[in-house]
Amino acid sequence: MFNLILFGSPGSGKGTQSEKLIAKYGLKHLSTGDLLRSEISRQTALGQEAKKIMDKGQLVPDEVVVGMISSALDENPHSKGFLFDGFPRTSAQAEALDKLLDLKKAPIAVMLALAVSGEELVKRLVKRGETSGRSDDNNEQVIRARLNEYLDKTAPVADHYAQTGKVVMVKGEGSITEIFEALCYEIDTRIDRVNK
Ligand code: ADP
Repeated sequence: MFNLILFGSPGSGKGTQSEKLIAKYGLKHLSTGDLLRSEISRQTALGQEAKKIMDKGQLVPDEVVVGMISSALDENPHSKGFLFDGFPRTSAQAEALDKLLDLKKAPIAVMLALAVSGEELVKRLVKRGETSGRSDDNNEQVIRARLNEYLDKTAPVADHYAQTGKVVMVKGEGSITEIFEALCYEIDTRIDRVNK
């Protein structure tokens, strides 16, 4: 089993690259943002609570997202591996994920971190807000709150995986294909080792 975290700020291109990576490597895509938006569109109680927090640009509680990830892992026992996108986003989530994967004897192989400059991020998110229909994308104040949450709570997650030498930075600016190829290169140097 090959487990990978695609890491980066909101707007760094995780969603776009995840779609291409799961198609190429046959991994199961686990995006907590997508799982939460699915709860919102189904109007579940969890979704209604989460929407209030997401619309302020804040993080939903760790227990909620850890619970969703734990269920998703249980629902896919035969997966070739998982691509985590937008998770873990706090140190507590990272510790919880490590425990869940320890049980499967399939730890995180690598964290690929997309590096994009601050001004480029705001530009991309504002532009996405024009078409995405996401209420957290069409207000610059909410976008700035999300970027602050990222710097404050999420950036330390990279330090957590850096302790075990698992973080690889990849340039997140350039064409979608160039970035995809850089990500594939890093995966290809590791995936055989894990699957043997
Ligand atoms: P983006 O990376 O563009 O912010 P996501 O779809 O990953 O988009 O997340 C959207 C929102 O969903 C976040 O701003 C946050 O409120 C919530 N969210 C997603 N994943 C998590 C998580 N792992 N922990 C807490 N909140 C999360």
